[in-house]
Amino acid sequence: MVELKNIKKSFGDHVVLKDINFSVGKNEVVVIMGPSGSGKSTLLRCITFLEEPDGGKVKLGEFNLQAGLPLNKERKNMIRALRQNTGFVFQQFNLFSHRTALENVMEGPIVIKKMDRQKAKENAIELLSKVGLADKMDHYPAQLSGGQQQRVAIARALSMKPMVMLYDEPTSALDPELVREVLLVMKELAKEGMTMIVVTHERGFARDVADRVVFMEDGLVVEEGSPEKMFGSPVKERTREFLQDVG
Ligand code: ATP
Ligand code: MG
Repeated sequence: MVELKNIKKSFGDHVVLKDINFSVGKNEVVVIMGPSGSGKSTLLRCITFLEEPDGGKVKLGEFNLQAGLPLNKERKNMIRALRQNTGFVFQQFNLFSHRTALENVMEGPIVIKKMDRQKAKENAIELLSKVGLADKMDHYPAQLSGGQQQRVAIARALSMKPMVMLYDEPTSALDPELVREVLLVMKELAKEGMTMIVVTHERGFARDVADRVVFMEDGLVVEEGSPEKMFGSPVKERTREFLQDVG
């Protein structure tokens, strides 16, 4: 479903991604963990060319994009296709503040997919119900808690029917009591077979939901494997220091 080959990215002379290779199968949930600055967010951004890699290849389903080539029309279309098929959920919810929850979720399908307004509304109602916000549809973001805003953001990403969902620390900005409701929604989606790549420090979520945990450090994938292996008996010294359960 998603395939990354030899992804490299530098900012000036700071090499942030050295040579990243990994793939995510259909219906698979991959959790990426690693210290601050290891390149996790940059990697997610590179998948959709929000940040263009300096080198390497991104493949999403039938869409294929080689980094570092001149931007022509065909390439622009390919980048657009890549983004339209990827749902991105950020740490800061990034909702449109002057639109209600419902309007936030309707926007993408209407503007980008030219969906009929009534149909978009029906879909949005269904998605908001799914994330437990049927009674909050007419609220503006400022009238919602952080956890509710993040669930709207998830519904909004789902409205485009993405092939894969990317989450960048979706619960890091939330008060502790609101983390659970967001993780529960993500877990439910995983159960339904959504393909997802999740950057998070939530070990409980990784243990319960991930098919695979990828540990990154200094712009490299140090080690990857099942949650049991990665938390229980990682092979690499650094993984052990960072991930292994203590006590
Ligand atoms: P965190 O856990 O803190 O979110 P991260 O693993 O997501 O960290 P990135 O945000 O990918 O790390 O950043 C990796 C490195 O790249 C950092 O040193 C950061 O300062 C640098 N970096 C990221 N984006 C840019 C940018 N647009 N310009 C310059 N440097 C950048
Ligand atoms: Mg980050």
